[in-house]
Amino acid sequence: MTIPFIDLKAQYQRLQPQIDAAIQRVLERGQFILGEEVAAFENEFANFCGTRHAIAVANGTDAIQLALLACGIQPGDEVITSAFTAVATVAAIEIAGARPILVDINPDTYCVDPECVYRAITLRTRAIVPVHLYGFPAEITLLQEISAKNNITLIEDCAQAHGASYNKKGVGTWGKAGAFSFYPTKNLGAYGDGGAIVTNDVSVADRLRRLRQYGWSQERVSEQKGMNSRMDELQAAILRVKLADLEYSNIRRIELANQYRTRLSESQILLPVRRPGIEPVYHHFVIRHPRRETLRCYLANQGIATLVHYPMPVHLQKGYFNLGYTAGSFPISEMASREVLSLPLYPEMTYEMVDEVCQAVLAFPS
Ligand SMILES: *Cc1c(COP(=O)(O)O)cnc(C)c1O
Repeated sequence: MTIPFIDLKAQYQRLQPQIDAAIQRVLERGQFILGEEVAAFENEFANFCGTRHAIAVANGTDAIQLALLACGIQPGDEVITSAFTAVATVAAIEIAGARPILVDINPDTYCVDPECVYRAITLRTRAIVPVHLYGFPAEITLLQEISAKNNITLIEDCAQAHGASYNKKGVGTWGKAGAFSFYPTKNLGAYGDGGAIVTNDVSVADRLRRLRQYGWSQERVSEQKGMNSRMDELQAAILRVKLADLEYSNIRRIELANQYRTRLSESQILLPVRRPGIEPVYHHFVIRHPRRETLRCYLANQGIATLVHYPMPVHLQKGYFNLGYTAGSFPISEMASREVLSLPLYPEMTYEMVDEVCQAVLAFPS
């Protein structure tokens, strides 16, 4: 491929002296799990998000699961989320013992349609988990209102939206808790797995700290049930370097996305919709095309890598047939699965590379 979808090696090269020093520091200190790097990262990440607490865990799926448990979600409780998300969102709800209730999306935001959320509420609904997909905040003010009026916990899946905001208020601060993933390809990525939950509620934070380590309130004293979902020191030290760079790299993404917009606005291609008050961080630059597969092959033949997020909505995945939905249950999600295409976008990409992708897209016979 002449233009890769993402280039994590280029990012390492840009930050190499700081990353190497961070790794060296951890190796020489000789403490590897939940130590001072994790504590420092938690402080810095809470600061970045604008919350009182951040609790680092092993991955983003655990972050969602633990957030649900810490908020008191019980087996059999219904939790509403999007049919059009990474399977991880739904997996986390099921693993927490709750029943995922899927709803359709708004075709402009690719996030849950608040009207559909409202209609899905029953007496058993205990939580809503909106996903800020592709780095674009969901319609969070409406969702917050629905959750407050119906006394339902709001937990945001922020795995693709580190640093995004709505009306200047960051994602992860609107609900009871916000769950983040630091999977290597995310806007803030570790060199392995990682995740975190942010919250302003001290009792939720305390419960999360116990839940992530066998329910311990102090060493070897299990105050409650728990699991093992700890972050290691190497990942925390690397994440501290990358967090200091996140504002810059998000700005780079926005600049490159704006260039895509300008160049592609001459075409019929459906671009990500901008809405007032929204400050996205472009985890992906997603266009829509009725002949998506043909366009994707056309670009691949010219050495341009693209991906599809997501080729199949969760309700049509074999592993989730048990939820009881069928083809046609969520028409907008199903349309999006057929038409969305993620173009290459990462902070180290150059304007020339974006231009090359745009030229190829514009030359696609329509
Ligand atoms: C990546 C991702 C997750 C899960 O994160 P992991 O760290 O891979 O467990 C959850 N939700 C969304 C929307 C994601 O993109």
